[in-house]
Amino acid sequence: MTAPQAPEFNIHPNPDPASDDARAKLLADPGFGTVFTDHMAVVNYTEGKGWHNARIEARAPIQMDPASSVLHYAQEIFEGMKAYKQEDGSTALFRPEANAQRFQASAQRMAMPELPEEIFLESIRRIVETDRSWIPPGEGGALYLRPFMFASEVFLGVRPAKEYLYMVIASSVGSYFKGGAKAVTIWASQDYSRAAPGGTGAAKCGGNYAASLPAQAQAIANGCDQVVFLDAANRKWVEELGGMNLFFVMDGGRIITPPLTGTILPGITRDSIIALARGEGYDVHEEPYSFDQWRDDAESGELLETFACGTAAVVTGVGTVKSTDGEFTIGSGSTGQVTQKMRSRLVDIQRGRAPDPHGWVQKLF
Ligand SMILES: *Cc1c(COP(=O)(O)O)cnc(C)c1O
Repeated sequence: MTAPQAPEFNIHPNPDPASDDARAKLLADPGFGTVFTDHMAVVNYTEGKGWHNARIEARAPIQMDPASSVLHYAQEIFEGMKAYKQEDGSTALFRPEANAQRFQASAQRMAMPELPEEIFLESIRRIVETDRSWIPPGEGGALYLRPFMFASEVFLGVRPAKEYLYMVIASSVGSYFKGGAKAVTIWASQDYSRAAPGGTGAAKCGGNYAASLPAQAQAIANGCDQVVFLDAANRKWVEELGGMNLFFVMDGGRIITPPLTGTILPGITRDSIIALARGEGYDVHEEPYSFDQWRDDAESGELLETFACGTAAVVTGVGTVKSTDGEFTIGSGSTGQVTQKMRSRLVDIQRGRAPDPHGWVQKLF
């Protein structure tokens, strides 16, 4: 079997990149998702012709016809991943094939063409290589990569589009939540659902996020940082936050995380934490956990900690849960020991400070 050929990306350097001074200023305190690099990756897709014209070019606005079908029927998917500076000065990705595969699964759910894994991986390698000077120095700093694809065909009929654009933009980031590793307060939404059986909950599509925003606004209005969604059918089972998966740490070394039944996004951080926690000797169960049980276990002390996880914010403790029925506090209300330990285990591997027994880290240069 021959290895699939890495596609050739034509490189068109930005003729007017940020100066060293301007970049250094931006990287001093990048925040999350506001500082962008000089370049982007672009690949076109046309039915019949397939994927073509792979290139790295200056980051610039996209010219779009107002009848581009994504603007009407929302065929759009994305990924989120990071390039990390390693302890030894090299730059690495974390499980990029998992992102490539999930991107294909999301495409399938939204009736979009699947981007070959090799094109996805090469686009990531090329953009990181081209914009390597944009990785912020210091703990927590990374180059956040946002691959995405949308229907660009100019057509108002309702059917899968025949033309798509795949792109990758890159953003220099610091810590996701302002205030660092503080435990968050979350709002349990009783009015809104994120995903229903047979719906798009397991696909990383923009539409899921649009639909989650009123619930997130309610969370903010009630003094919370994030929203937690319950299952749509029974409003009983705890599913996940708007963009992070959940873990429950019980007394006696048991850890529970909701199972992937199709309404939960299969997080790569979630999958990594399950493996790491098992490696630490925890008894990890992927099983349904109800909101009532959550409150009872928090009140009885059976539940020691709850944490949320995802690429952007890594691992974040949940201190308090509020809903229209009142609120409860988990443990001391601050980030717990197991949460901190799992966060360190993961970050140490990502940063090359600890052995990588699962082969998750892919060094680029
Ligand atoms: C992206 C995402 C996650 C986290 O996935 P990671 O691969 O760990 O970054 C969790 N939930 C939702 C809804 C997401 O979109």
